[in-house]
Amino acid sequence: MKLQDIRLNRKLIAFALILSILPVSLLGLYAYDQTQNYIDSELKEKLQDQVKLEKDYINATFSTAREKVSNNLNTSSDELYSRGIPDIVDNKMVVNGYVVNNNSDIVVDITNQIGGRVAIFKVKNNRAVKISESIEQNDNKNYTETENFASDKVYREVVIKDNTYIDRSKIQDQWYLNAYRPIKDSSDKTIGILCAGIPEKPFINKIKSQMKDIVIGETGYYYVINSDGKVIIHPNLEGENVLNYDFAKEMIAKKEGNIKYIWKGRDKLVGYTYYEQRDWVIASGAFVEEFYAPLHNIRDSLTIVVIAFALMGSIFGIWFSRTITKPVDEMLEAANKVSEGDFDVEIKNTSKDEIGQLSKALNSMITNLRDSNNLKDLFTDILRHDLLNPVTIIKGYSDVLLKMEDDEKKIKTLETIKRNTNKLINMIENASKLTKLNTVEELDFKRLDIKSIFEEVINNYQPTLDEKQMDVDFRVEGEYPARADPFIEDVFSNLLSNAIKYSPEKSKIIIEIHDADKFWEITVTDFGEGIADDNKQLIFERFKRAEKGGVKGSGLGLAIVKRIIELHGGEAGVRDNPQGKGSVFWVTVEKYQE
Ligand code: ADP
Repeated sequence: MKLQDIRLNRKLIAFALILSILPVSLLGLYAYDQTQNYIDSELKEKLQDQVKLEKDYINATFSTAREKVSNNLNTSSDELYSRGIPDIVDNKMVVNGYVVNNNSDIVVDITNQIGGRVAIFKVKNNRAVKISESIEQNDNKNYTETENFASDKVYREVVIKDNTYIDRSKIQDQWYLNAYRPIKDSSDKTIGILCAGIPEKPFINKIKSQMKDIVIGETGYYYVINSDGKVIIHPNLEGENVLNYDFAKEMIAKKEGNIKYIWKGRDKLVGYTYYEQRDWVIASGAFVEEFYAPLHNIRDSLTIVVIAFALMGSIFGIWFSRTITKPVDEMLEAANKVSEGDFDVEIKNTSKDEIGQLSKALNSMITNLRDSNNLKDLFTDILRHDLLNPVTIIKGYSDVLLKMEDDEKKIKTLETIKRNTNKLINMIENASKLTKLNTVEELDFKRLDIKSIFEEVINNYQPTLDEKQMDVDFRVEGEYPARADPFIEDVFSNLLSNAIKYSPEKSKIIIEIHDADKFWEITVTDFGEGIADDNKQLIFERFKRAEKGGVKGSGLGLAIVKRIIELHGGEAGVRDNPQGKGSVFWVTVEKYQE
């Protein structure tokens, strides 16, 4: 349906609704969006603060661990030297006559005092090989000098650079934080490395339990991954690898910031930072919808406000449309009545707006129309009764006089009077017929045989035909039942009379009836003067013809033909005679359905 086709009151209501709902909705959506942005940015900031705090906490925890392991190393060193200065004798480390190689007595003794682990390495061929370890080995403390070397890093830092060094190592599936320092003989030469270590687990556990206690939102949590994507700390994914997730890749690459991604179907906002010492990406995540309660409030109030505005809009729209459409409807009704010929109407709207002015203008138009219609009725009446009577009397007396007269000259004059009187009668009759036909809405349709009617018409015109020595070729056979009113006779007599009138003497007229599906097409073909293309339409329109001028003839015959055929639901027209000069007038009349 096109916009123009929608009823005025619907358009107005829709307009009012749009006006009332649109701004509120837009404003609401804007507020919603702003609030969401605000919540997101607050959350981001909070998450950032949290991960930084957590990083400090982790750092402090590991510092404590390092301090402890350093202390352990000091104590171990004191313990070792309190037994004597270590030395190399026969390729073995000896302390006060006591062989350290493959002997865990000393290290176990020390660990019994300080906990953790203690190990001793001996320098050999530019490496440091473990010769004693407090942790029980599966193969029962046998340290052959071909395995268990300290890492190159440890060797370099401790033996070559003569430093104390802290590093991690994994022993029997357990991570230890170890402190290393050189063991020197009596000539201050580095002959080995003393190592004291503590298991990392308690510190990691401490971090974990601290992380667990801090929940962001209702279900948020901390997690830690390393650069390889390995999950170090997580409520349920520990040990897995998440490198194939885009968010993990981004976090590893950027090392610090915020990221939003979907985790298990929920929007998650994460703040993360990097703890270089351990190669940890520390992340704190929250599920955003848990923070959107204010947003939901906005949404709910928005819905209520929109509904309220929609209601107000509708009420206003209905009121507004009434003030416009009611008078318009009234005008429409009046116009419809007038078009049906009822001039007894008046539009009551007296408002001062444009619609009121329009009503006023319409009212005066209706008054004018009523007056002209009355005038027309008066003229039609005069035409029918007052004019026809005296003219018929003139005709009668001229007939009487013609019969009485012998004088040739007077007879000619009388014949002219008679001919023109006939013309006048004809014109008066046609005019009153046309006015009558114009007000007729429905005809009295019945089954009529077109052939018999036309035969009758031809019969009536026989004297005129004889006078002009013309022939009618009536090419029909059988019956042509049509759904028609007796008025139809006027159509045929007008067509035949024109054909005679506008054709030369001794010419022929052909009348045919063709089957045209649901209609009969009746054609009257003459060999007369023909009709120019420009006039083919005009000759059927009495008033247009009068306006245009140029077409001769003042008659109403074809206008009557057209009106009668229209009332029958058919069509009328004219085309050139294909057999040479002249015209073919045609009309269609609906067949009678048995
Ligand atoms: P009238 O014949 O009385 O003038 P009509 O309405 O019957 O009025 O015809 C209108 C005009 O159409 C005629 O004046 C004439 O110019 C033209 N006309 C009608 N029938 C024919 C015809 N058969 N051949 C040529 N012209 C015609």
